[in-house]
Amino acid sequence: MAERGHNGARKTHVRGIGVSPGVVIGPVFVLTSQAVTVVETSLRPDEIDHEIARLEDALIATRGQLKAIMEDLGARAGVRDASILDAHLMVLDDRAFVDEIIAQTRNDCCNVEVAVRDVAENYAKVLASLKDDYLRERVADVRDVARRVIRNLTGDIDSALATLTEKHIVVANDLAPSDTATLRKDVVSGFATDLGSPTSHTAVMARALEIPAVVALRDISRHVRTGDIVLMDGNKGVLIINPSPEELKEYGALAEARKHIEQGLNRILNEPAETPDGHRIVLSANIEHIDELDAVRQYGAEGVGLFRSEYLFIFSGTMVGEAEQAVAYTTLATALHPDPVIIRTLDLGGDKFYRDSMASHEDNPFLGCRSIRLSLQNPEHFKGQMRAVLRASATGNVKMMYPMISNVDEVLQANALLAEAKQELREKNVPFAEDLEVGVMIEVPAAALTADVIAEHVDFFSLGTNDLIQYTIAVDRVNERVAYLYEPTHPAVLKLIKMTIDAGHDKGIWVGVCGQMAADPVMAPLLVGLGVDELSVAPQAVPLVKDAIRSISLEQSRTLALLALQCHSGTEALRLCRETVREAAPELLELV
Ligand code: PEP
Ligand code: MG
Repeated sequence: MAERGHNGARKTHVRGIGVSPGVVIGPVFVLTSQAVTVVETSLRPDEIDHEIARLEDALIATRGQLKAIMEDLGARAGVRDASILDAHLMVLDDRAFVDEIIAQTRNDCCNVEVAVRDVAENYAKVLASLKDDYLRERVADVRDVARRVIRNLTGDIDSALATLTEKHIVVANDLAPSDTATLRKDVVSGFATDLGSPTSHTAVMARALEIPAVVALRDISRHVRTGDIVLMDGNKGVLIINPSPEELKEYGALAEARKHIEQGLNRILNEPAETPDGHRIVLSANIEHIDELDAVRQYGAEGVGLFRSEYLFIFSGTMVGEAEQAVAYTTLATALHPDPVIIRTLDLGGDKFYRDSMASHEDNPFLGCRSIRLSLQNPEHFKGQMRAVLRASATGNVKMMYPMISNVDEVLQANALLAEAKQELREKNVPFAEDLEVGVMIEVPAAALTADVIAEHVDFFSLGTNDLIQYTIAVDRVNERVAYLYEPTHPAVLKLIKMTIDAGHDKGIWVGVCGQMAADPVMAPLLVGLGVDELSVAPQAVPLVKDAIRSISLEQSRTLALLALQCHSGTEALRLCRETVREAAPELLELV
């Protein structure tokens, strides 16, 4: 929040959470939900029912979003302000309004976006012509609701963004991963949002796109205006509005120092991730898009430890069939060969949807039908994905892993479907690797606590600390209001990590970490000390983490882990991590 100092002057430093590194300076573009573009399409009569179903989905999603905004406003500004959106909800719940949209869609055989736009415009015109002040004021509500519904139908990000011709720092209340996926790097040099957290999938996207980003800036989108100049530091999570020449100079010097350190990191690009006492760690990359293959090579990662396959769907905004998936996975496998690519099966749900209208169907989406649960409830589709992975396995070093496992039955069910998928390919003489390695993500406490049982049925574990932390501490990973509770070094989290690693090793399987915790050079040595075999991080974090591994001996890391496991609080354990890194590689602290 831009605060005011004791003399009333506008303070220009705003602190949030840096989620994607880099310092950028430039004009702001405030993203609001203004005009939306509607493309008109003629439909066949047999397509109309599907079109009406899309409308119902979009209405549900819009209602959910409006309620969420109202709750947020209610919490922050009091009930009076929140009730502003009551009128929006009334428009949405007006059956006559909805019936008219359905009637136009049926009569004109048009896409439903057109009907929403036309019916809303007619309503708005009638309201505008009335004498009653209250009703006249409802014109804006009708138009705003129609805009929201259309955006939910098209999955469209603010179309004004499309008009940008030069680089801007985009400031918004929030960005969905699907919105972030559509940001163009040629016109977006960074982004800053009121909401969000380091492990939200919007932050994951920012890192994938290598766009510097700061989130959790509370109400920044209401405090800056399009055209303001801001300096944004994605490492430290700071935004400076209209920076002074002194501040620019200071930051220039800092940027120089960081460049120097980064050049030093370049020198170890082709060196192994090995501790000074000779202990080797596999250091691989997390990616969401095939375009990131260049970054995997550029930053010296050993293959891909996590390919978030759901982003194939998010980027295309639609379901992706088996053949198309097989092409994508084969591209990864052949490009990385002989290094591995671990393809995670679909992890949709939570805060990840490929259409906005998928959102808000559940009261607790992170505890709902997401991820492996969704896959197991759609076995044909799941098998299609498995066949695509298997096809790619004939062309390179492919492994597959299941996300969000919470009990061994899910593993057994998934493995049974995998056996069927293999048999189907055999019958068609399609080649694949019979010994495809299969692992699970350990990201639910129940899975960590039963890791010994699960380990019997898989070839490896990958700890998804982003979710493991949220489920262990009961802290929503995307809610900035509880971000202070989100502690990777919380004693309970460290115990679950240790338990998982020990259970895996006892059963002779390797254990990695692919959550954001692994990408923090301050915490990576702790994970090494706890015994992990592999760390998988965003490509640009690879050099930093490698430097940390190469600077701190296994013996020091083990001592750190032993002490950290005895700490009573996450803060205490984090302090130990920082001290260890400060002694061995102080320059790293400059970058985080
Ligand atoms: C995790 O949960 O730690 C993880 C790597 O998966 P995602 O961030 O995609 O949920
Ligand atoms: Mg996860």
